Amino acid sequence: MMPTTEEMRAHLAAIPNLALSSGVPLALHTRFGVGGPVDLYAETAAEDAFLAALGAAEAGGIPFVVIGGGTNLIASDRGYRGLVLRFRGEALSAQRNRVTAGAGTELQRLVDFTIDRGLKGLETLAGIPGWTGAAIYGNAGAYGHSISERTAAVRFFDGRAVRAFSNTECEFAYRESIFKRHKDWIIFAAELELERADRDELRRTADGIVKVRNEKFPVTMQCAGSIFKNLLLGELPAAVAEQVPAAVVREGKVAAAWFLEQAGAKGASRGAIRVADYHANLIYNAGGGTAADLCALIQDLKSRVRTRFGFDLEEEVQYIGF
Ligand SMILES: Cc1cc2nc3c(=O)[nH]c(=O)nc-3n(C[C@H](O)[C@H](O)[C@H](O)COP(=O)(O)OP(=O)(O)OC[C@H]3O[C@@H](n4cnc5c(N)ncnc54)[C@H](O)[C@@H]3O)c2cc1C
Repeated sequence: MMPTTEEMRAHLAAIPNLALSSGVPLALHTRFGVGGPVDLYAETAAEDAFLAALGAAEAGGIPFVVIGGGTNLIASDRGYRGLVLRFRGEALSAQRNRVTAGAGTELQRLVDFTIDRGLKGLETLAGIPGWTGAAIYGNAGAYGHSISERTAAVRFFDGRAVRAFSNTECEFAYRESIFKRHKDWIIFAAELELERADRDELRRTADGIVKVRNEKFPVTMQCAGSIFKNLLLGELPAAVAEQVPAAVVREGKVAAAWFLEQAGAKGASRGAIRVADYHANLIYNAGGGTAADLCALIQDLKSRVRTRFGFDLEEEVQYIGF
């Protein structure tokens, strides 16, 4: 018989080094600021405590989900019936050109760590919010580069054992990895292979990028960055590709914002959830918004693009509790 939330809570409370709470609204753990209460919420920087919590949830038949910094998440207004887990391990180390980062390391901290050591390869990721584990999960990237280009190995738990995958085994693609298709796998650490470069030059590149990013995404904005993935020109239906002006194609991709703009998305809103008037692929919570309005606005935008162009945009943002 499935344990009650109280029984599971007692079980989890006995695990050393695990911080446990219940009833916390996911709005407090997501940058969008939407999401209802979770039955159980646990976080730890210790792998064994994390695995013990996972084992307890599985043995009890309790659903679980792992989150990172919560910057790419839409959480349901009803919250989550089960256990929300966060792995906070943030060990960072370097051996020559190879850097190892715990999945709970803030991505910006990892970027700064590499720049300080004169290691090139992550500087264009400066300013991307969130943690390293999720950056691997979603193959985060910006300015023409993705974390996959520098990922040598990923250590993760596959439900039975802790294993390591090489870059090829991670099956990275644009905002994709094998981990996105195995949502029960937990990333614990990543190894990045970098190259020597001038530290001041790297810092200038990163600072320039952060300045531009902060103008586009003010640090207090409740959002998830881009809602939809950009489109690979070669994968668009021919009739759609023909309508795309050459000037809007960058590195073989067309910004989802271009399609959204043609479909009149800029400035659209539902309750307190709005599309930025300067960027059609940026949705934000202007204060007190709900996940229901957010999802309705996303569906409205998808339907506008489907009607105008005949294809479906795909969300980059991830959902929990739906
Ligand atoms: C203002 C702003 C700008 C952004 N700009 C960019 C950008 O330029 N490029 C870009 O790629 N992204 C961008 N993003 C999106 C976001 O920052 C990235 O997707 C980031 O990698 C999410 O990290 P997180 O720790 O917040 O993950 P979360 O939002 O907490 O989780 C995202 C997903 O990762 C999974 N996950 C988290 N940790 C683990 C783990 N340890 N093991 C397995 N799965 C895990 C979760 O289950 C979830 O499905 C932006 C977001 C914001 C708010």
